[in-house]
Amino acid sequence: MPSLRLLAANPRGARLSNAAGSAASQGDQGAGRGFDIGPTMNVGPWAERLAGALAGRRVVYTTSWDDGLHTDLQLVELGRRHGMPMMLFASPLHGSGRAMHSRDLLEVAQHAEIGSHTLRHTPIDHCSALEARDHVLSGRRHLEQVLGAAVPHFCLVGGRYTRANLAAVKGLVDSVRSTDLLNFGAPVRDGLVQPSLQIRFKGRTHPAKVVWAALSRLALAPALRVAGLALRGARQHDLMAELPRLSAAPEIRVHLWGHSADVAACNAWQELARLFELLNLIGAKPMRYSTFVGTDGPPLAAARVKPK
Ligand SMILES: [Zn+2]
Repeated sequence: MPSLRLLAANPRGARLSNAAGSAASQGDQGAGRGFDIGPTMNVGPWAERLAGALAGRRVVYTTSWDDGLHTDLQLVELGRRHGMPMMLFASPLHGSGRAMHSRDLLEVAQHAEIGSHTLRHTPIDHCSALEARDHVLSGRRHLEQVLGAAVPHFCLVGGRYTRANLAAVKGLVDSVRSTDLLNFGAPVRDGLVQPSLQIRFKGRTHPAKVVWAALSRLALAPALRVAGLALRGARQHDLMAELPRLSAAPEIRVHLWGHSADVAACNAWQELARLFELLNLIGAKPMRYSTFVGTDGPPLAAARVKPK
């Protein structure tokens, strides 16, 4: 399975100076297997290749994370150290009993935007419209009381919804994030904030879902390549190495999302740190979530109504 195997930290200059000698062989490997950084490689060569392939284009990115659990403390600290823009969607009474304490949420809010994710982590696809509205509002109000600030962004639990319930809750919040994938153009589509790639170390998105999204969203050549990689076991975040091919636009908009509990369960903090380093090394522009999805106004607001 292709994997993002990234080594322990080296000084940035050392990584880049090591890059030239191995770039060619890694390029060959990358062409065959996707984002396969082996245990003896480091992030520098990949960053160089990506930066070169993206020359003259702009990459803007944001990240969002679910569910506001204890492990998000470590995540937000890691993101802070790497200058990551972060939105944390919290369920303050999460059914796992592992929701972070209110004082921790206040601390985290110093470094990340906070969004709501229902009070108890409840999907809104098997309830009435009235109940769906209550789930959304109760989560939002709880967080606003804790934080003493507006919490206008919402994330669907499990990405699940019905059209009727989505219509019922849309007006209660500024944005509704889904779990869609391979959206590198318009941050908002069909009334949903649709992400680009899920950062996920444990398990993988069902390949059929990735193949379907690729064929619906991408041009034929990149869609076929992504489909091939997915069928061979590539994880969504492995597709970062395909970024130059996934979109032909002069500006590529990348929205990464994930769960800190997944990172913790796989002890993948080092790998996640390297992914953050990669974003920095290729010169991608970090952007606050609310700006990225257009609720802060320009520069991406116009993209909200861009057709599919
Ligand atoms: Zn969740």
